[in-house]
Amino acid sequence: MKIICDTHVHSSNSFDGESTVREICESAIEKGISSVTITDHMEAPEISLGDKSIFGNAVKSITQSVKDVEELSEEYEGRVSLLKGMELGEPLHKPSLTKKAYEIADFDFILASIHNVLNEEDFYYLTYTRENVPSLLERYFNELLDTAQNADFDSLAHLTYPMRYIIERTDIRPDLDKYSEIIDEIFLTLVKRNKALEINTSGLFKPIGTTLPDLDLVRRFRELGGSLVTIGSDAHNCKKLGAGVVEGIEIARLCGFKSYTVYQNRSPKQVAIWY
Ligand SMILES: [Zn+2]
Ligand SMILES: [Zn+2]
Repeated sequence: MKIICDTHVHSSNSFDGESTVREICESAIEKGISSVTITDHMEAPEISLGDKSIFGNAVKSITQSVKDVEELSEEYEGRVSLLKGMELGEPLHKPSLTKKAYEIADFDFILASIHNVLNEEDFYYLTYTRENVPSLLERYFNELLDTAQNADFDSLAHLTYPMRYIIERTDIRPDLDKYSEIIDEIFLTLVKRNKALEINTSGLFKPIGTTLPDLDLVRRFRELGGSLVTIGSDAHNCKKLGAGVVEGIEIARLCGFKSYTVYQNRSPKQVAIWY
């Protein structure tokens, strides 16, 4: 049986999300998706800004997100399984604020992201030049390693995130082989700490045209002993819900994974990959 689970989905409780949790449930049933983990944005370093954050009030929005999931889980029981997650941005930038994020609820799943390196804006907002790309990427991978080593999370989200914008907006084509040593170190750390790597399928529909990370990097994670992968569309509306998840599962299979992972109560559950 083909069981499709999407573990990276934003609802309208995220500043950039468009669909309500109810609309996501309806769409999941229509598309035959068994389970959806709602992972609204929690840009932890912004917590102290409250309503003044450009990403909205993180505590309020995650509180609402969790409330929606709890209410609708009951209503949709037996039709779609809903799980409580958050996409925790930059967990190590301001640890005392990150602590407050964990206290909001008993989450099923915590996805750790780096959307910006320390003292820079989100990679989405940056201007890329041949001069700044190498150092931005180096800082990015260093922060990811630090996150992999020291943060409290379940899966590491969209590794190679800056590449999405570099490829989309410039003709710079960085050679990721230059970062292979640190990427290996990130993977070995995930293996050692029994954390998952996310295969984020949003890139399949962008100019980069690959999952984040791509098949070669997922294969490398497997070679280094990786056993846990989560698959997420990173959908910001129900039209995109589940987009690319089957392709993401296929990439996991091609890299030697026999199952992929869905977290419940922060504990990994394996979902068999069909053949
Ligand atoms: Zn993200
Ligand atoms: Zn996301």
